[in-house]
Order: sequence, then structure tokens, then C-alpha cells
Amino acid sequence: MSSKTEMLHSALADAHLPALLMSLVHLTGDVSLLTPERRAVYEPMAEPNIAGYSPQVQADIRALAETVISAWFDGAPIPPEPSRETLRRMMDFVSGADVPEHYVEFLMDEISVGGMDTKTPRWEGAALKAAASKMKVVIIGAGMSGLLMGHRLRQAGVPFTIIEKNADVGGTWLENTYPGCRVDNPNHMYSYSFEPSHDFPYHFSSQPVLLDYFRRFADRHDLRRDIRFETRVEEAVWDEARSVWRVTVTNPDGGGETLETNAVITAVGQLNQPRYPEVEGFGSFAGPDFHSARWRHDVDLTGKRVAVIGTGASAFQFIPQIAPNAGHVAVFQRTPPWYSHAPHYHAEVAAGKKWLLEHVPFYDKWYRFFLFWSLTDGVYAAVKGDADWNGPSHSVGAANNEYRELLTMMLRMQAADRPDLLDKVVPRYPFGGKRPLVDNGGWITTLKRDNVDLITTPITRINAAGVVTSDGVQHDADVMIYGTGFQASRFLWPMRVVGKGAVDLETAWNGDARAYLGMTTPDFPNLFIVYGPNTNIVINGSIIFFSECSVRYVVGCMKLLAETGAKSMEVRRDVHDAFNVEVDKGNDLMAWGSPHVNSWYKNAAGRVTQNWPFPIVEYWNQTVAPNPDDFVLTGVKETVEA
Ligand code: NAP
Repeated sequence: MSSKTEMLHSALADAHLPALLMSLVHLTGDVSLLTPERRAVYEPMAEPNIAGYSPQVQADIRALAETVISAWFDGAPIPPEPSRETLRRMMDFVSGADVPEHYVEFLMDEISVGGMDTKTPRWEGAALKAAASKMKVVIIGAGMSGLLMGHRLRQAGVPFTIIEKNADVGGTWLENTYPGCRVDNPNHMYSYSFEPSHDFPYHFSSQPVLLDYFRRFADRHDLRRDIRFETRVEEAVWDEARSVWRVTVTNPDGGGETLETNAVITAVGQLNQPRYPEVEGFGSFAGPDFHSARWRHDVDLTGKRVAVIGTGASAFQFIPQIAPNAGHVAVFQRTPPWYSHAPHYHAEVAAGKKWLLEHVPFYDKWYRFFLFWSLTDGVYAAVKGDADWNGPSHSVGAANNEYRELLTMMLRMQAADRPDLLDKVVPRYPFGGKRPLVDNGGWITTLKRDNVDLITTPITRINAAGVVTSDGVQHDADVMIYGTGFQASRFLWPMRVVGKGAVDLETAWNGDARAYLGMTTPDFPNLFIVYGPNTNIVINGSIIFFSECSVRYVVGCMKLLAETGAKSMEVRRDVHDAFNVEVDKGNDLMAWGSPHVNSWYKNAAGRVTQNWPFPIVEYWNQTVAPNPDDFVLTGVKETVEA
């Protein structure tokens, strides 16, 4: 046996068998491999790699894989791409569900079964190339979305400058360095579809691993040369007479500068301005206090009394990390999170699986699709409400209620010995009302520690010594940590963005941010927002997926400008408004739209400003390319001189 064949033999033990089976269909062209007993069946607590297969079926698939993949190593050709009908059946087999027909196009795009990255802009023709080269674009932010935007514009031949306030790339993965920070989406989905990393050490990568991924992306594509670091955008003002944006920045030396550009693309994320608790006495605490996204690594928590406010996604990760070392941790919880159980949350990716991802054709793509389906649109029904639902108000429909019961049962098992704790940790709002978290048992284990108290009595005051709760109890602390989230509803703030007729975007939105497909808004020509209003996701989809969709659409808009010679494009108000009516109707039916939930997804008036309410394939569908009829294109473009 060659060493490669030996590696294959041992790697197969770690295979996700349905994804492996899909590779075999590609490599053999043999549709008859899709026998009924090989269709995946996933049970909540069962090992997904095995997908409910009998030992005999498992052994058969591995034996076949050894033969077929070895033959491919030896030079056997890959047959033509499976037919559309076969791909549709393959989706059902790998996901263990009846995946609707309209996912086929999405699948072919997302996993590039044809072997070509279909999202790469291909701007052909001398005239288009010449027009592209004369454009100027400012991208704001060098995080996951801004880097992607730069990469795609580079491929399109459009010159750009990325303005980044930090000293390095990475955005949220640069700023959040709190202990235990990691992505709560499997990385083989939370990564650019066209740039997989087969050597991710964990299923759910830690912050340093992700930061490294984005740094390597920036280096591989030589993006740093077009990034101005430690430069802050103060304002962007549309010059109507000349159809250009005037972008004022503060340079690293503190000096100001104004750049002129045809288009501004913001890629600043929804979660980068910390929110602090609006509690009387905030700011009066005498000891060190800091936000989770501004972690003070110089503050040693060893043996200290630590007060943590909040039990959202960040606190849920750092509290289990700091508790073993701290003297005492007082956890102030206003609302408990829902979380699902993932035993492999902190586990390393098995060596065999890494090897298969790297060496077996199509395996990584189908594994990605399995993750996509099982964590996003496959659970959509569980967070969608039923308008006729007349069950308890802590659920929005029958499927949602079933999920609630399943997760509550898990909580009961985990806290069986602590009824006092159970009462505090079972949420009283619908599953999906807030971002569901991921856990491998660490949360309840931490809350059960002798040096940890979960306090649910509301906070009334912060004072020099610590926190006072509504029962009058003073909770003294040495250090206070705010896991209180971000000012998400204030999109683009604190930047000032001024459009046509001197309209200020924050004033126009008035706390109720809206955009067409999250990206464009009337009165703001040539302004494109990536990860804008109503493009956030609640169940565990990857926001990278959304960014890839948005970025392709924005590149399509730039192409429209270049092709038509128009100076500006502005979304039609009727199109924008009709879209938002549908979004609101959709969100009203979702768990996060329930009137029984308060969250950062809603603005002060209770409207969901953050989330996409439809299956995420719909976002893909609507963003493949801009429809020129949705826009008003004006003028004949003239090149802007610096
Ligand atoms: P968050 O989810 O908004 O959580 C904030 C927490 O602070 C909530 O428990 C909130 O309670 C509480 N809180 C706020 N003000 C309070 C007050 N005055 N008194 C008491 N409690 C207060 O913020 P986050 O944990 O930073 O996460 C934000 C988002 O970032 C997440 O939803 C997720 O999208 C993302 N994130 C992702 C990851 C990951 O991928 N692993 C990790 C971290 C963050 P209420 O619920 O009652 O408002």
C-alpha cells in the first residue's frame, strides 16, 4: 500500500459518512450508490458522522471508499458532473431531509461542484476593464466583510482603499480577546466558501485561530497594501453636484484628510460599539471595570471577587474560563440564554477528518452543505411561528415548542441536583427569541461551582464597592466585567453619513434602520452597507455566508455603474419600502419577533431591525445580481481625480 492509501485507510475511521458517500457518487458517477439505507438519519444526541447507519452500511461505505478513492489516486478520471436531479437527491441523502428543489442552484454555487468559484467577478471586455480601472471605492473596515470586499474588487479590477480604525485586520476577531472567545458556528461553514481551511484545529475555532485565518487571507491576497490602518472615518458626505462621496478620516498622526470616491462600502459589522449597562451609578465602581470586547488582560483575576453583568454569548464563554481562577464570581443574569448541546464544542478536529477534507474530492463541499443545512435552513421551522398558534406564549408554534421541550429536558438533566438553579436557567421566552448558544456542559458545571453565584434579582445600582440588587443586597466586588453586548441598532454610528439634500443617515433612520436587502437606502446614492439592517441571523448560520452574498451583489452594483457609465445609483423608494414591509411581516412571525422577547435584535420601538426573517437561501437568491429596475441611475460617470 502506498503511504497515501495507508493514510486513507486510517482516515476513513473519522469520516462523516454521508459526505464521504457523496464524494463516491462524484468519483464513480454511480447514482445507484444512493440506496435507501444510506440516506442519513440524524438524531439529536447521536454521532452525526455515522448518521444512523447500521454497522454493515458503515463498513460497506468505508470499503467502497477505499477502492474508489485509491483508484482516483492512481489516476482514474472523474466522470461528468452529476445531473441536477442527482444533485437534488444527494442533498437529501447528506442532510437526511427533503431539501426543496430550489436549493440546487444555491448548492451548485455555494459548493462549486463544477470546481469553479462562481462568485469570482469576471469583468470581461476592454471597455468594462477600462471603466473599472477608473473607479474609486472606499471600503470602511478590514474585518471579515471588508477583506472579502477588497478581494472581490481587486478581482474585478476596481481600485479601492480600505480604511481601518485598528492596527490590524480581523475586526471582531481582533477586538474580542476575552478568555474562551470562539466562534459558535462550526468553522467548516464559518469560513469563506472559496477559501476553506482544512487544518482548522477545532470544529469551533478559538479567537486566535480565526484571527490567524483572516490575517492569512489578507496576506495571501496581498490586501494590506490597500489598507490604511489606524485611520478612522469620521464622516462621509455625498457631493450632489459632482456625484462623489467626500470621506473625512483621521489619520494615525491625528491629522484630518478628505478622500473623494465614487462609492462608499461600509463593512463595520453590527457588533463593534460596546454597550454598557444603563444602571444608576454606572462609572462609580472603584475597582477595574471593563467590557468583554475591551478585555483588560493586565487585570489579574486570580483570587478576586468578580462581578459579571450579562449572560449573553460573550459572558457564556468567558465565565467558565475565569471561574476556576477567580476567588468568587457573581453572575448577574437578567434573562437566561437558550443553548444547545454540542459535545464537540471544544474538541479538536480528528486527524483523519482533516486529511479527508484536504485530499478527497468534494468531501469538504458536502460536509459544508451538511453543516449548512443542519444548522441553518434545516432548523428554520423550529424558529418560525405559526399565526394560529394558541399554545403557551413561551413558544411561537408547535415545532418551536418541541424544540423548547427538548432543550428544557437537557437543562433538567444537567441541573437535576440543583432545583434552585434549574428555576433560574430555563428561559421563559421562545427558543430563538435571542441568539441560541452552544455548550458542552461547561455552563451549568460552572454555575454549580462553590465560588459562583447566579444572581437573578435585578440590579438597581452600581456603586464604588460593587452592585446593589433590588432586594437591597450589596454585592461587593474587586473587578467588574460588562458582558452587556453592543449598540447594534445604531448601524454605522458613530460615523456621520450625509446623503442627498444634506440628509443625515442617523437622523433619517431615527433609530429604525432600514435598507433594501440590507445594503442600499434611498437618498444615499452609491452607498453600500455590508451586514446592514435585517441581514443578521439568529439560528447558527454563518454570517460569512451573508457577507459573501452581499459582497457579490455590491460588486454587481459596481459593474452596473461601470457598464452604464452612470455616475450614481440609488435604490427606488417604492422598492425599498415594499421590501421592508415584507421583512417586517416575516419578522413578526419569527421567534425573535415575538412580543414576549426583548433583545438587541429590536429597536426601542420593538421593530426587528437586525434580522433576516426568511430561509437564508432566500438571501442568496435575491442577491445573485442587482436588478437594474430597482435603481435610479443618474448622469454619465466622470472619473474622479484625487
Ligand atoms: P448580548 O448577547 O447582547 O448579551 C448581553 C447580556 O447582557 C444579556 O444577557 C443582557 O440581558 C445583559 N444585559 C445588558 N444590559 C444589562 C443590564 N443593564 N443589566 C443586566 N443585564 C444586562 O451580548 P454579547 O454576549 O456580547 O453577544 C452579542 C452578539 O455577539 C451575540 O448575540 C452574537 O451574535 C455575537 N457573539 C458571538 C459569539 C460567537 O460566535 N461565539 C460570541 C460572542 C458574541 P438581556 O438578555 O436581558 O438583555
